Amino acid sequence: MDCTICSSFPMIIRPPRNTICGACFEGIKCALALVSSSELESRLADRKLSNLTAPNKGLGDLVEWIKYMKNVERELNERICFLAGSLTAFADQIHTDILIKPGDGSSISTHRSILATRSGIFKNMLDSDICKAPPQDSTIPIPELTHDELESLLEFLYTGDLPPEKIEKHAYPLSLAAHKFEILYLEKFCERHMLRSLNVNSALDVLEISDICLNQKMKERVLGFIVRNFEEVAFSEKYETFCSKNPHLSVQITRATLAEARSNRRPSGEVCSPKVVGRDHGGVFRI
Ligand SMILES: [Zn+2]
Repeated sequence: MDCTICSSFPMIIRPPRNTICGACFEGIKCALALVSSSELESRLADRKLSNLTAPNKGLGDLVEWIKYMKNVERELNERICFLAGSLTAFADQIHTDILIKPGDGSSISTHRSILATRSGIFKNMLDSDICKAPPQDSTIPIPELTHDELESLLEFLYTGDLPPEKIEKHAYPLSLAAHKFEILYLEKFCERHMLRSLNVNSALDVLEISDICLNQKMKERVLGFIVRNFEEVAFSEKYETFCSKNPHLSVQITRATLAEARSNRRPSGEVCSPKVVGRDHGGVFRI
Protein backbone atom coordinates (compact mmCIF):
# COMPACT_ATOMS: atom_id res chain seq x y z
CA MET A 1 0.00 0.00 0.00
CA ASP A 2 1.25 3.48 -0.83
CA CYS A 3 1.58 5.84 2.13
CA THR A 4 1.06 9.56 2.50
CA ILE A 5 4.03 9.77 4.93
CA CYS A 6 6.84 7.63 3.49
CA SER A 7 5.81 7.65 -0.20
CA SER A 8 8.53 8.57 -2.67
CA PHE A 9 6.01 10.47 -4.82
CA PRO A 10 5.99 14.30 -4.78
CA MET A 11 3.51 15.80 -2.28
CA ILE A 12 1.10 16.84 -5.02
CA ILE A 13 0.41 13.29 -6.22
CA ARG A 14 0.62 11.50 -2.89
CA PRO A 15 -2.32 9.41 -1.67
CA PRO A 16 -5.00 11.00 0.58
CA ARG A 17 -3.90 12.18 4.01
CA ASN A 18 -5.64 9.30 5.78
CA THR A 19 -3.70 6.67 3.79
CA ILE A 20 -0.82 5.38 5.89
CA CYS A 21 1.22 2.20 5.63
CA GLY A 22 1.52 -0.38 8.42
CA ALA A 23 5.17 0.47 9.16
CA CYS A 24 4.45 4.20 9.62
CA PHE A 25 1.33 3.44 11.68
CA GLU A 26 3.22 1.11 14.05
CA GLY A 27 6.20 3.48 14.23
CA ILE A 28 4.03 6.44 15.22
CA LYS A 29 2.11 4.34 17.75
CA CYS A 30 5.38 3.22 19.38
CA ALA A 31 6.78 6.78 19.43
CA LEU A 32 3.60 8.12 21.08
CA ALA A 33 3.61 5.26 23.58
CA LEU A 34 7.20 6.19 24.47
CA VAL A 35 6.20 9.81 25.12
CA SER A 36 3.26 8.58 27.21
CA SER A 37 5.34 6.34 29.45
CA SER A 38 4.92 7.33 33.07
CA GLU A 39 8.58 8.10 33.64
CA LEU A 40 8.75 10.51 30.73
CA GLU A 41 5.43 12.10 31.71
CA SER A 42 6.73 12.91 35.17
CA ARG A 43 9.86 14.48 33.68
CA LEU A 44 7.75 16.57 31.36
CA ALA A 45 5.55 17.64 34.27
CA ASP A 46 8.71 18.65 36.18
CA ARG A 47 9.73 20.78 33.23
CA LYS A 48 6.21 22.28 33.14
CA LEU A 49 5.58 21.12 29.59
CA SER A 50 1.94 20.61 30.55
CA ASN A 51 0.71 20.48 26.96
CA LEU A 52 2.69 17.26 26.56
CA THR A 53 0.98 15.59 29.48
CA ALA A 54 -2.52 16.17 28.14
CA PRO A 55 -4.50 12.94 27.52
CA ASN A 56 -4.80 13.42 23.72
CA LYS A 57 -1.35 13.21 22.28
CA GLY A 58 -0.59 13.56 18.60
CA LEU A 59 2.37 13.96 16.29
CA GLY A 60 2.58 17.67 17.22
CA ASP A 61 3.34 16.58 20.78
CA LEU A 62 5.96 14.21 19.46
CA VAL A 63 7.76 17.09 17.74
CA GLU A 64 7.69 19.05 21.03
CA TRP A 65 9.11 16.02 22.78
CA ILE A 66 11.96 15.72 20.26
CA LYS A 67 12.76 19.45 20.71
CA TYR A 68 12.76 18.93 24.47
CA MET A 69 15.14 15.98 24.16
CA LYS A 70 17.48 17.99 21.91
CA ASN A 71 17.62 20.65 24.65
CA VAL A 72 18.35 17.99 27.27
CA GLU A 73 21.17 16.68 25.06
CA ARG A 74 22.64 20.17 24.66
CA GLU A 75 22.50 20.79 28.43
CA LEU A 76 24.13 17.43 29.15
CA ASN A 77 26.90 18.10 26.63
CA GLU A 78 27.58 21.46 28.30
CA ARG A 79 27.70 19.76 31.69
CA ILE A 80 30.09 17.08 30.40
CA CYS A 81 32.39 19.79 28.97
CA PHE A 82 32.35 21.55 32.34
CA LEU A 83 33.14 18.37 34.30
CA ALA A 84 35.83 17.32 31.82
CA GLY A 85 37.88 20.28 33.07
CA SER A 86 39.26 17.97 35.75
CA LEU A 87 40.93 15.94 33.00
CA THR A 88 43.00 19.02 32.18
CA ALA A 89 44.25 19.00 35.78
CA PHE A 90 45.35 15.40 35.25
CA ALA A 91 46.86 15.97 31.79
CA ASP A 92 48.76 19.04 32.99
CA GLN A 93 49.60 17.41 36.36
CA ILE A 94 48.18 20.33 38.33
CA HIS A 95 48.37 19.77 42.12
CA THR A 96 48.58 15.99 41.80
CA ASP A 97 49.18 14.38 45.18
CA ILE A 98 49.63 10.63 44.78
CA LEU A 99 51.44 8.17 42.52
CA ILE A 100 50.10 4.97 41.03
CA LYS A 101 52.57 2.31 39.95
CA PRO A 102 51.56 0.00 37.09
CA GLY A 103 53.10 -3.41 36.35
CA ASP A 104 55.43 -1.86 33.80
CA GLY A 105 56.80 1.58 33.07
CA SER A 106 56.85 4.65 35.26
CA SER A 107 54.39 5.69 37.97
CA ILE A 108 51.58 8.09 37.12
CA SER A 109 50.72 11.12 39.26
CA THR A 110 47.06 11.64 39.98
CA HIS A 111 44.65 13.21 42.50
CA ARG A 112 43.58 11.51 45.73
CA SER A 113 40.20 13.22 45.61
CA ILE A 114 39.36 11.68 42.22
CA LEU A 115 40.39 8.18 43.33
CA ALA A 116 38.50 8.45 46.62
CA THR A 117 35.28 9.71 45.05
CA ARG A 118 35.22 7.14 42.26
CA SER A 119 36.03 4.01 44.28
CA GLY A 120 35.35 2.99 47.87
CA ILE A 121 38.34 0.63 47.70
CA PHE A 122 40.67 3.47 46.71
CA LYS A 123 39.16 5.59 49.47
CA ASN A 124 39.98 2.92 52.08
CA MET A 125 43.51 2.60 50.73
CA LEU A 126 43.98 6.37 50.89
CA ASP A 127 42.67 6.45 54.46
CA SER A 128 45.35 3.96 55.50
CA ASP A 129 48.63 5.09 57.04
CA ILE A 130 50.68 4.05 54.01
CA CYS A 131 49.03 6.72 51.87
CA LYS A 132 49.25 9.47 54.48
CA ALA A 133 52.93 10.01 53.68
CA PRO A 134 53.92 13.11 51.65
CA PRO A 135 52.82 12.91 47.99
CA GLN A 136 56.27 12.03 46.67
CA ASP A 137 56.39 9.00 49.02
CA SER A 138 52.80 7.83 48.52
CA THR A 139 52.39 5.16 45.89
CA ILE A 140 49.56 2.75 45.21
CA PRO A 141 50.76 -0.31 43.25
CA ILE A 142 48.45 -1.82 40.63
CA PRO A 143 50.77 -4.47 39.14
CA GLU A 144 48.03 -6.20 37.12
CA LEU A 145 47.68 -3.17 34.83
CA THR A 146 50.19 -2.03 32.24
CA HIS A 147 51.09 1.66 31.96
CA ASP A 148 48.72 2.06 28.99
CA GLU A 149 45.84 0.34 30.77
CA LEU A 150 46.37 2.38 33.92
CA GLU A 151 46.31 5.62 31.91
CA SER A 152 42.98 4.56 30.40
CA LEU A 153 41.62 3.66 33.84
CA LEU A 154 42.56 7.11 35.16
CA GLU A 155 41.15 8.85 32.09
CA PHE A 156 37.85 7.09 32.74
CA LEU A 157 37.88 8.09 36.42
CA TYR A 158 38.26 11.75 35.39
CA THR A 159 35.78 11.82 32.49
CA GLY A 160 33.43 8.84 32.82
CA ASP A 161 34.18 7.98 29.20
CA LEU A 162 36.84 6.54 26.90
CA PRO A 163 37.47 6.90 23.17
CA PRO A 164 36.32 3.82 21.19
CA GLU A 165 39.88 2.72 20.36
CA LYS A 166 40.88 2.67 24.05
CA ILE A 167 37.88 0.71 25.29
CA GLU A 168 38.32 -1.67 22.35
CA LYS A 169 41.95 -2.25 23.34
CA HIS A 170 41.59 -2.39 27.13
CA ALA A 171 38.04 -3.62 27.83
CA TYR A 172 39.12 -6.88 29.53
CA PRO A 173 41.75 -5.55 31.99
CA LEU A 174 39.59 -2.50 32.73
CA SER A 175 36.62 -4.72 33.44
CA LEU A 176 38.66 -6.73 35.94
CA ALA A 177 40.08 -3.56 37.52
CA ALA A 178 36.57 -2.08 37.78
CA HIS A 179 35.43 -5.21 39.60
CA LYS A 180 38.44 -5.22 41.93
CA PHE A 181 38.13 -1.53 42.83
CA GLU A 182 34.30 -1.55 42.81
CA ILE A 183 33.89 1.07 40.10
CA LEU A 184 30.39 0.05 39.06
CA TYR A 185 29.99 2.61 36.28
CA LEU A 186 33.17 1.38 34.59
CA GLU A 187 31.98 -2.22 34.94
CA LYS A 188 28.75 -1.33 33.17
CA PHE A 189 30.65 0.66 30.54
CA CYS A 190 32.90 -2.34 29.78
CA GLU A 191 29.95 -4.75 29.86
CA ARG A 192 28.03 -2.69 27.28
CA HIS A 193 31.07 -2.61 25.02
CA MET A 194 31.81 -6.34 25.34
CA LEU A 195 28.20 -7.36 24.66
CA ARG A 196 27.87 -4.95 21.72
CA SER A 197 31.01 -6.34 20.09
CA LEU A 198 30.47 -9.97 21.10
CA ASN A 199 31.60 -12.44 18.43
CA VAL A 200 32.98 -15.96 18.09
CA ASN A 201 36.54 -14.76 18.77
CA SER A 202 35.71 -12.79 21.91
CA ALA A 203 32.97 -14.97 23.45
CA LEU A 204 35.25 -17.21 25.56
CA ASP A 205 37.21 -14.24 26.95
CA VAL A 206 33.98 -12.42 27.82
CA LEU A 207 32.57 -15.55 29.46
CA GLU A 208 35.71 -15.87 31.59
CA ILE A 209 35.51 -12.21 32.63
CA SER A 210 31.81 -12.44 33.47
CA ASP A 211 32.63 -15.44 35.66
CA ILE A 212 35.48 -13.69 37.49
CA CYS A 213 33.39 -10.53 37.96
CA LEU A 214 30.38 -12.57 39.18
CA ASN A 215 28.25 -10.88 36.51
CA GLN A 216 25.50 -13.46 36.13
CA LYS A 217 23.44 -11.44 33.65
CA MET A 218 26.34 -11.02 31.25
CA LYS A 219 27.35 -14.65 31.74
CA GLU A 220 23.91 -15.87 30.69
CA ARG A 221 23.96 -13.65 27.59
CA VAL A 222 27.42 -14.88 26.55
CA LEU A 223 26.66 -18.52 27.30
CA GLY A 224 23.53 -18.24 25.13
CA PHE A 225 25.66 -16.82 22.33
CA ILE A 226 28.23 -19.63 22.68
CA VAL A 227 25.49 -22.27 22.60
CA ARG A 228 24.05 -20.76 19.40
CA ASN A 229 27.52 -20.70 17.80
CA PHE A 230 28.97 -23.75 19.51
CA GLU A 231 30.43 -25.39 16.42
CA GLU A 232 32.55 -22.34 15.54
CA VAL A 233 33.56 -21.75 19.16
CA ALA A 234 34.48 -25.40 19.82
CA PHE A 235 36.74 -25.55 16.76
CA SER A 236 38.40 -22.20 17.43
CA GLU A 237 42.08 -22.14 18.37
CA LYS A 238 41.56 -20.93 21.92
CA TYR A 239 38.88 -23.43 22.98
CA GLU A 240 41.30 -26.12 24.20
CA THR A 241 43.34 -23.65 26.28
CA PHE A 242 40.11 -22.14 27.63
CA CYS A 243 38.82 -25.57 28.73
CA SER A 244 42.01 -26.52 30.56
CA LYS A 245 42.09 -23.14 32.28
CA ASN A 246 38.36 -23.02 33.09
CA PRO A 247 37.08 -26.61 33.51
CA HIS A 248 33.97 -25.47 35.40
CA LEU A 249 33.00 -23.13 32.54
CA SER A 250 33.57 -25.79 29.91
CA VAL A 251 31.23 -28.09 31.86
CA GLN A 252 28.62 -25.32 31.89
CA ILE A 253 29.00 -24.80 28.13
CA THR A 254 28.57 -28.53 27.50
CA ARG A 255 25.49 -28.78 29.71
CA ALA A 256 23.92 -25.66 28.22
CA THR A 257 24.53 -26.97 24.69
CA LEU A 258 23.00 -30.35 25.51
CA ALA A 259 20.04 -28.68 27.20
CA GLU A 260 19.49 -26.55 24.10
CA ALA A 261 19.71 -29.60 21.82
CA ARG A 262 17.21 -31.47 24.04
CA SER A 263 14.88 -28.49 23.98
CA ASN A 264 15.02 -28.36 20.17
CA ARG A 265 14.08 -32.05 19.98
CA ARG A 266 10.85 -31.52 21.98
CA PRO A 267 7.62 -31.83 19.97
CA SER A 268 6.28 -28.40 19.00
CA GLY A 269 3.63 -27.06 21.36
CA GLU A 270 5.19 -28.61 24.43
CA VAL A 271 5.83 -25.91 26.97
CA CYS A 272 9.25 -26.12 28.54
CA SER A 273 10.27 -24.29 31.64
CA PRO A 274 13.77 -22.83 32.09
CA LYS A 275 16.20 -25.62 32.79
CA VAL A 276 18.77 -25.61 35.53
CA VAL A 277 22.03 -26.45 33.81
CA GLY A 278 24.48 -25.65 36.52
CA ARG A 279 25.22 -23.77 39.65
CA ASP A 280 27.77 -21.07 40.02
CA HIS A 281 28.81 -18.91 42.94
CA GLY A 282 25.73 -20.00 44.82
CA GLY A 283 23.36 -18.98 42.02
CA VAL A 284 21.28 -21.24 39.82
CA PHE A 285 22.28 -20.97 36.19
CA ARG A 286 19.47 -21.24 33.65
CA ILE A 287 19.00 -20.83 29.94
ZN1 LIG B 1 4.57 4.81 5.38
